[in-house]
Amino acid sequence: SSLLSVLGPGDLFGEMAVIDGLLRSATATALENCELTVINRDQLQQRIEVLDPVMRLLISVLLTKIRNNNRIVSCQNAGSGMANDELSNSAIRIPDSFKSAQEQLKLEQDLLEGIEKKEFLLNYQPIVDLQTNSIKGFEALLRWIHPSRGLVPPDKFIDVAEQSSLIIPIGIWILHQAIHDIKWLHKKTSLNNLFISINVSSRQLDDPNFVNEMIKVQKKFSINPNLVKLEVTERVFHEGPIVLDSINRCRQMGYAFSLDDFGTGYASMTTLFNLTVDAIKIDRIFVNKVTKDPKSMAIVQAITTLARSMNLHLVAEGIEEASTAAFLKNLGCQHGQGYLFGRPQPLEQCLSYFKKSSAA
Ligand code: C2E
Ligand code: CA
Ligand code: CA
Repeated sequence: SSLLSVLGPGDLFGEMAVIDGLLRSATATALENCELTVINRDQLQQRIEVLDPVMRLLISVLLTKIRNNNRIVSCQNAGSGMANDELSNSAIRIPDSFKSAQEQLKLEQDLLEGIEKKEFLLNYQPIVDLQTNSIKGFEALLRWIHPSRGLVPPDKFIDVAEQSSLIIPIGIWILHQAIHDIKWLHKKTSLNNLFISINVSSRQLDDPNFVNEMIKVQKKFSINPNLVKLEVTERVFHEGPIVLDSINRCRQMGYAFSLDDFGTGYASMTTLFNLTVDAIKIDRIFVNKVTKDPKSMAIVQAITTLARSMNLHLVAEGIEEASTAAFLKNLGCQHGQGYLFGRPQPLEQCLSYFKKSSAA
């Protein structure tokens, strides 16, 4: 037998049989005392299953190639006993990789074209003061109108935009458009204190250029940064190293941050502990049932107390019924948002709120 290699500390000792399930053998001899960490096939299998579909496709192409090469080798060594197919049954499985990878790549191409062809637009949903019912600001919500897919909801494409980094150019467009639009509303309504809430994904905050972009829009529109609230989720802690730095630098410039979907993540308290934000948005799964379900009631009450003692603004999302608004008002929750007050809609239609209601 021949010597394959001599390994040093930290080197991986790999045997293809772990992946393709075919019989092969090699012998390892320790030249000095060493500690082995075994990676077994199940561990690899689990990791492949959670991979991005495009990466799964690439791995499956590689594995198929390796398997085919092996088949030729074992045919040449005829008489080895076991049938090849029996062996490869135990190989790592690559589930549905082709279809979902294809769909994802197509969606990415369409998104890229969507940017060029300006298929995106922003809708705005009012955020009201629950004590007075007056509108205090708007949340910008992204919409994509694709020529053949139709109106694609953000849940269907934001993830793909993040994975492909297309969220960076889309995010820059959102920033400029939303701030342009709130300035327009200031002018039309003479309410110069209306704020704008903008959703920012952690992938955007991990871009070294993000802070520059925030400086740029501030100059371009001479907006008071206090009126711009950037909504982030707990995912800021699962992204790269510069996210927290971006947040801190923006806060120093005066931009406000809201912790979105509060209560739905696995580490809400840790997030509050490690991140300085200005506001919390209670997720609508709790708000929705707050008057009917004792558990939701307890959770919303606890979050309200928490926000008050941490001196944070509180926004309740997804208010659909007057009874919910009344309940939250009684609890002392400051701001509310939901279909009861208004659905997300194009900018021009937002003017109608100010004609019929008394805004302050
Ligand atoms: P989100 O930030 O939690 O936005 C609130 C979502 O709740 C919006 O869905 C809104 O239409 C919906 N909503 C508001 N009031 C009610 C209500 O009373 N009842 C019910 N059932 N729903 C209500 P939408 O517009 O489909 O957005 C979904 C998610 O997509 C957003 O959740 C946000 O995570 C993401 N998203 C939207 N726009 C952007 C954006 O510009 N940038 C980024 N990065 N993400 C965005
Ligand atoms: Ca949001
Ligand atoms: Ca939310």
